[in-house]
Amino acid sequence: MEIRDRYAPSPTGLQHIGGLRTALFNYLFARSAGGKFILRLEDTDRTRFDEQFVRNLYDTFAWLGIPWDEGPDIGGPAAPYVQSERFALYQKYAGDLVVQGHAYYCFCSAERLDTLRKEREAAHSSATGYDRYCRSIPLAEAAERVQAGAAYTIRLKIPLGETTRFRDELLGDIEWKNDDVNPDPVLLKSDGFPTYHLANVVDDHLMGISHVLRAQEWLSSTPLHVIMYRAFGWEHPRFCHLPMVMGQDGKKLSKRHGATSIDEFRRLGYLPEALINYVARLGASYEEGTDMYTLDALATRFSLDKLNKAPAIFDYKKLEWYNGQYIRMKSDEELAALSLPYAISQGLFGTETEPEAANAAGTEPTPEQRRAFIAAMPLIKERISFLPEVPQKLGYLFSEPPIPAATEFIPKKGDLPRTIELLQIGRDLIEPLSVSTDEVAEEVIKAKAEKVGIKLGDLMMPLRVAITGARVSPPLFGSVRILGASRSLARVDRALARLTECF
Ligand code: GLU
Repeated sequence: MEIRDRYAPSPTGLQHIGGLRTALFNYLFARSAGGKFILRLEDTDRTRFDEQFVRNLYDTFAWLGIPWDEGPDIGGPAAPYVQSERFALYQKYAGDLVVQGHAYYCFCSAERLDTLRKEREAAHSSATGYDRYCRSIPLAEAAERVQAGAAYTIRLKIPLGETTRFRDELLGDIEWKNDDVNPDPVLLKSDGFPTYHLANVVDDHLMGISHVLRAQEWLSSTPLHVIMYRAFGWEHPRFCHLPMVMGQDGKKLSKRHGATSIDEFRRLGYLPEALINYVARLGASYEEGTDMYTLDALATRFSLDKLNKAPAIFDYKKLEWYNGQYIRMKSDEELAALSLPYAISQGLFGTETEPEAANAAGTEPTPEQRRAFIAAMPLIKERISFLPEVPQKLGYLFSEPPIPAATEFIPKKGDLPRTIELLQIGRDLIEPLSVSTDEVAEEVIKAKAEKVGIKLGDLMMPLRVAITGARVSPPLFGSVRILGASRSLARVDRALARLTECF
């Protein structure tokens, strides 16, 4: 059997973690089986449709680097892959079901259905859904009314008194009494638009979908779909309803827990590799450990029997860990390129307007700043989890940091005169440090500390505060190298002048 699966989003919102998980599992499953992964746009709900969500879909998956084999943008043998371009098909298939006696024309007006609902409410009736009022109208009579121009919908005739059974690849055998299935749901609306159920079943069949991997919230629709497949005389695809994704509190993952749209993760400086690796684990287990896999490596490890029934808990800390790991795997050039937009927007290289202004636009780096930015990557690579932290940690290399208060310079058990002395000793080391590798710089400063009989830390601390503007900073030697001797010396002198004033 050729494996064909699909991601079938409705463009009524931004792509989020749940959608990515569904798409990714379908992608991995198709790849693992040498099959095809298809994108289909389920845009039948025109009231909630928005073109920006279609753009967001393409943009998100291009950024993630997850391709499909067939889809609206690239075509394929089952084109078109956009449901709004397939309306004639749904009308035909709904009509076929009517002729075969599996569906019927319904002429109930919205008012009648509304009155029915209200009456039931008033009577505290447990009955819900349609009361099958038009189910018994003989087809010939109904067809005449349609011919005469009466408004109608087409409803599925759910076989009553039966039980629908199917197997879910993850959840096992499922049974559903037909009397508990939504009574005779609409397949084709009065405006000729299909409902989700009709379009979904017709398309999965016509597109040769062998496996439907979708979120567990769709499980309650599946008995209805199975009934429809049987009515059409089609074999239904295999179903696999994926475990829910929850927040740490056990509730369905939502904005309350943190970022959920992929756009937002992207803005916050997550890398696609980290998201993919983490999301690939939401409801599936691979080998033990915290290995990082490429998409291909994930695909070779993926299989439906590795899925978990229990809901997956979304752990932002774990995702952060992955992000940090992927940041460390980037070359300096790559990391600089990825974090450059954040550096520009944060005004690392200067602003075109007042930095405080609401519309402050950051300027592009000069070639020299660009070189310094790349050279600074090793200083922060091990210390960050998110891209915007790159410029946040490097401000002191691109503009003069404010001179900290005198107390910041003073080492433990030290005092001001001693600190000035230490800084003067340190000042003499700037020239050699600015041209040394870390190893050599370390030797130089250690030798000096030993020679004058002071602790290494006491010598480095005031120097660090003078150069970087803070007690805690990226590595000192690398900073001096990037700033160069004259800028570093100027900072030490500036600090010395301030400390002497305080004296
Ligand atoms: N259009 C549905 C959605 O938005 C697809 C559900 C399915 O995969 O059948 O999730």
